Amino acid sequence: MNRYDIAIVGTGPAGVSAALTAKNRNKSILLIGRKDLSNKVQKSHKILNYPGLPDVTGEELVLAMREHLAQMGIEITEEQVTNIYAMGDYFAVQCAKEMHEATTVILATGVMQGKLLPGEEENLGRGVSYCATCDAALYKGKEATVLGYSAKEEDEAEFLAEVADKVYYVPTYKDEVKVSRDNIEIISGIPKEIRRADNKSVLVIDSQEIVSDGIFVLRDSVSPGQLVPGLETEGAHIKTERDMSTSIRGLFAAGDITGTPYQDAKAVGEGNVAALSAVAYLTELAKKL
Ligand SMILES: Cc1cc2nc3c(=O)[nH]c(=O)nc-3n(C[C@H](O)[C@H](O)[C@H](O)COP(=O)(O)OP(=O)(O)OC[C@H]3O[C@@H](n4cnc5c(N)ncnc54)[C@H](O)[C@@H]3O)c2cc1C
Repeated sequence: MNRYDIAIVGTGPAGVSAALTAKNRNKSILLIGRKDLSNKVQKSHKILNYPGLPDVTGEELVLAMREHLAQMGIEITEEQVTNIYAMGDYFAVQCAKEMHEATTVILATGVMQGKLLPGEEENLGRGVSYCATCDAALYKGKEATVLGYSAKEEDEAEFLAEVADKVYYVPTYKDEVKVSRDNIEIISGIPKEIRRADNKSVLVIDSQEIVSDGIFVLRDSVSPGQLVPGLETEGAHIKTERDMSTSIRGLFAAGDITGTPYQDAKAVGEGNVAALSAVAYLTELAKKL
């Protein structure tokens, strides 16, 4: 398996900045995220404080960043990272479709929206999943519930509905839900709790209980502690030093995931520092060999 120098997880301003800097320093990089980069930036109406780009809209900034990546020959691997394991002198980066290896990792996954639901963590792997692509096959001929935190999860529900008999789709956002398959039922309500009962999974929403074989909780990002076992966190954030290093050697973090203020310029700056620190770490490692 090809081992990359640096795996960068997340394609928001922090991840893009880290990728550009690492590539500029001639490192082999794996940039994992979304081709449309960041839902948050896309949604920003006008960004008034980004140096050199007065009045830029989120969509324009995304477009400019995509062009910059393309000019530098940086490709995006469109996958969801489900776990990262520290293996000593390298990291195993587990994605929905495959596993990758990298000597260092930069986490730039943004901050998780909302809190974990009561019962969510306890039932992870016992009826609760974060990845439709990984686990859809388990639902052949069964029923599943999808809790979608953004409209892009409608595609995941459609995909799941190709395999499952029935999908209950619970959107937590206000936009109109657009799904085409007849076996998807849209149910509105505020999610309160997840329970396991009689070998079924129960999603409690304010008006009712949805009983199915499993629940997919699909957010843009998961909490860093779930992503990287053993990583030191502070609430929803990863604890970092000024050089963006974390409690795990070789693992760096940048952007909203390291704490407030949640700002594009801060994310870009931290992505740059994290990449340079990862480069310095690689140089140190090479000297020891
Ligand atoms: C409506 C709105 C308006 C805003 N306006 C402004 C503004 O005017 N000025 C300003 O400075 N800031 C503004 N912000 C804040 C700004 O958008 C964020 O601070 C910035 O996007 C943070 O960048 P990031 O790279 O840390 O994370 P994000 O932009 O959140 O990007 C993280 C990326 O990582 C991906 N990801 C997460 N988990 C995984 C995983 N497990 N595997 C693969 N990929 C993963 C996500 O899908 C996402 O693409 C605004 C935010 C919002 C929501």
